[in-house]
Amino acid sequence: MYYINSPIYYILAIVVMIWSMAVQAGLKSKARNGSEIPAASGKTANMIVQEMLSAHEIYGITIEHKPGELTDCYSPKEGKIYLSDTTYNKSSITAIAVAAHECGHAVQDHVNMPIYRFRQLLAPAAGICSVAGVYIVAGGLLLNYAVENAGDLGYFICNLGIAIYLITFLFYLVMLPVERDASRRAYKDMKEFGWVGDDQIKQTYKILRAAGDTYAVALASSALTLFRLLLMRGNSRRRR
Ligand SMILES: [Zn+2]
Repeated sequence: MYYINSPIYYILAIVVMIWSMAVQAGLKSKARNGSEIPAASGKTANMIVQEMLSAHEIYGITIEHKPGELTDCYSPKEGKIYLSDTTYNKSSITAIAVAAHECGHAVQDHVNMPIYRFRQLLAPAAGICSVAGVYIVAGGLLLNYAVENAGDLGYFICNLGIAIYLITFLFYLVMLPVERDASRRAYKDMKEFGWVGDDQIKQTYKILRAAGDTYAVALASSALTLFRLLLMRGNSRRRR
């Protein structure tokens, strides 16, 4: 039932898969190399969070250690910046880049950046809609198979599933520029305040860029899922 009769889909799926692996590997190696390079300023990630927040006149945000890898995040609800094992109190260029990036989100929040607000609005629904959309489309197809002459209803249910999944797609679409912007703010301040050396800034930029690429991959795979759902809906119509 879920057989998708489209070579283009399979070609795209392979391309996205290879791209995803390349991006993950690139990020891992850049982040790992950077984590062994001490920032020329000698400052820790925690220190630069304080400096960046006060430079933007943001007060009342606390820094907390969140054990684990890649657990760094800014939580607007709690007013906290969480830093992971490799960032918290560390003074490598990777730690500085990651911490400054999270501060970039705090700045977006502080200046009421519309696209950031929109992402925050979509965030709670994105996860549920991602699963629900796919299941609802599958349900529409199933109905078509199980009940004769259910075509219109099945097709309608498929459309409903696609509409729900579009919320997830929109979330990823909005996430990419938000993430790029947070990195841009981080890069600007790192350069301006000299948190990393002039000879380190290029490498730091590459780490931020590689992290940003993971969101481009996420957007591409979401687009691919949307394409798959459209193909599945096409199947439901053909078999009426
Ligand atoms: Zn981010």
